[in-house]
Amino acid sequence: TLYNMVQDLKGNIRVYCRIRPAFRTDTKNVIDYIGEDGSLVVLDPLKPHKDGKKLFQFNRVFGPTATQEEVFADTQPLIRSVMDGYNVCIFAYGQTGSGKTHTMCGPSGASRKDLGINYLALNDLFDLSNTREDVVKYELYVQMVEIYNEQVRDLLTGDPTTTSKLEIRSCTSENGLSLPDATMHQVNSTADVLNLMKSGQVNRAVSSTALNNQSSRSHSILTVHVHGKDVNGGTIRSCLHLVDLAGSERVDKSEVTGDGLKEAQYINKSLSCLGDVITALSQKNSYIPYRNSKLTLLLQNSLGGNAKTLMFAHVSPEGDSFGETVSTLKFAQRAS
Ligand code: ADP
Ligand code: MG
Repeated sequence: TLYNMVQDLKGNIRVYCRIRPAFRTDTKNVIDYIGEDGSLVVLDPLKPHKDGKKLFQFNRVFGPTATQEEVFADTQPLIRSVMDGYNVCIFAYGQTGSGKTHTMCGPSGASRKDLGINYLALNDLFDLSNTREDVVKYELYVQMVEIYNEQVRDLLTGDPTTTSKLEIRSCTSENGLSLPDATMHQVNSTADVLNLMKSGQVNRAVSSTALNNQSSRSHSILTVHVHGKDVNGGTIRSCLHLVDLAGSERVDKSEVTGDGLKEAQYINKSLSCLGDVITALSQKNSYIPYRNSKLTLLLQNSLGGNAKTLMFAHVSPEGDSFGETVSTLKFAQRAS
């Protein structure tokens, strides 16, 4: 199809920007212009004239009034391609407080309203599986882990205090799983998914208090494994990774020491490795530096090749976030 040809030409990496609503009015809003064509202009609050303007270009920009449904609608074709055998990664990138968890999970205390991509995606995959029932029999399985200080931890063991560290296997392992030791849960309904997501969130919160830490310091990865069998005996094996990344804010080295500094360095390193991998892929380099971080190693199967990648760059519109906003937009534009 024409769509596929266009995708091939552009590579399989798309970048969306999402700007959350402003919560404070005591600081200037930095959003100057949002274009239908994916352009975005931000304005430096300290240079409120022409040379304070910076232009960025993405595949799409969602403004502060965009609903969860609107954001999902533009993500749905990508998500559906998992059922045809493509591996897909969706990342939420941005500084803490910019709306990453809102996009992926929904507002905290997750009522059924405003649920995010994780839930809407699974819901849609169940729908699709029902629609195709006569042609393909699908089974869906879920794993959920977090990466904290370059260690991988299962969030769905049922025991939140467990600290066992998971090994990442190379993609050539027998069953193709990069985390064979993380618990695997078959899901049959959106209710199953909601329950798992809830216990995963609880586990994440428990570990972060135990470590005297915020969940924004770890990457959380919800993986949906799709097993399909069609009427001709053909099989489909693919997966969808939904990744809520650790906050991208630069930590001032003069202000943090010890554990905080180590943590910040791990985060900076893994996010910059992710950026390196995505840039190398978008430039079609022959060497892709997957092995430089746990995150990229874990996702190796699903980054590059035929796999499809979508990065959401999240932005806080308040003036005092301008520096972080520009660095987020630069990171994301480098990937596209
Ligand atoms: P992050 O995960 O990046 O640290 P959150 O998703 O927790 O940020 O968002 C910070 C706060 O802003 C939360 O209270 C969240 O509900 C709210 N928020 C984020 N994005 C939106 C949005 N698009 N619309 C309404 N509220 C939002
Ligand atoms: Mg968050």
